[in-house]
Amino acid sequence: MSADDKIRNAIILGSGCAGLTAAIYAARADLLPLVIEGPQAGGQLTITTVVENYPGFRDGIDGPALMVEMKEQAARFGTDFSAGAATRVDLSSPPFLVEVDATEFRCRTLIIATGATARLLGLESERRLMGRGVSACATCDGFFFRDKEIMVVGGGDSAMEEALFLTRFAKRVTIVHRREELRASRIMQDRARSSDKIDFIWNSVVDEVLDVDAGKVTGVRLRDVKTGGIVERPTDGVFLAIGHRPNTELFVDQLELDSVGYIVPSKFTMTSVPGVFACGYCQSPQDIPDSVTQASGTAARVAELLLRE
Ligand code: NAP
Repeated sequence: MSADDKIRNAIILGSGCAGLTAAIYAARADLLPLVIEGPQAGGQLTITTVVENYPGFRDGIDGPALMVEMKEQAARFGTDFSAGAATRVDLSSPPFLVEVDATEFRCRTLIIATGATARLLGLESERRLMGRGVSACATCDGFFFRDKEIMVVGGGDSAMEEALFLTRFAKRVTIVHRREELRASRIMQDRARSSDKIDFIWNSVVDEVLDVDAGKVTGVRLRDVKTGGIVERPTDGVFLAIGHRPNTELFVDQLELDSVGYIVPSKFTMTSVPGVFACGYCQSPQDIPDSVTQASGTAARVAELLLRE
């Protein structure tokens, strides 16, 4: 184990929107923050297409391009970056310990911006066929489904967005939702409903992805949640868009987490441990501008706390 001998003012875990916003504000407060980039540098927006609801880009901006801009902006004010993901933290007393594989870092304050990961249905067949027709990322895998039939599972904004994106490639996209009312915002619903390539199957859940023996997706077994009726429907691909789970395993037994695993704030973005802050999707499901607002406020509170020391 090698130790970085500096005690940093602030370490930020995660390099998505929340992490990089916190970095920009912390760096401009002269805290010389270190960002540990995490398993997916740039976060979830690096696997999305156009981001239309980020203020300041009236025509939208591609997710990966937005994240490059944010990283460069954070670097410009003196943010350090370390590739890789934190493998252990010790938050029992400051300076807090953060291990990234064989390297130890210590910090006076820690900002957790580890985000969330796509949820899966939990079926064995889904696991076995992941990457063989099952996907949780339309922008990563949509290209492989040119002229194919695809199902998208979910009724939120992600499901609408993935379905609309997939119409660029697919012959037909069927959204399977477990209720008869969508959770998605009105604008996203309207776009999906008005696409002549998208149709809907209501009140249904995927009980099985077929066909594990064939080693590829050939269909799904659907259960009607109202009647209990089972039908098999052919499809070439199953895209899951059923929400996310927070990336907070590192903090179990060290910070207060809710029943799902989201970090419970004690006040604003402070956590149950003084000096440890959380912002973005690891804290509670938020929309992007909220993450940014949260993250900027977090960095301001870190600066205040360090000034008082
Ligand atoms: P979400 O809003 O939580 O929606 C998840 C959907 O999956 C819900 O419709 C839910 O059904 C369904 N679901 C959950 N578990 C399921 C299961 N086991 N089996 C079948 N269906 C299941 O998640 P999201 O769509 O990922 O959105 C998360 C946040 O990001 C939201 O705030 C959203 O507005 C935002 N977002 C915005 C945009 C945009 O504006 N362009 C794009 C993507 C995401 P129920 O409805 O029955 O609960």
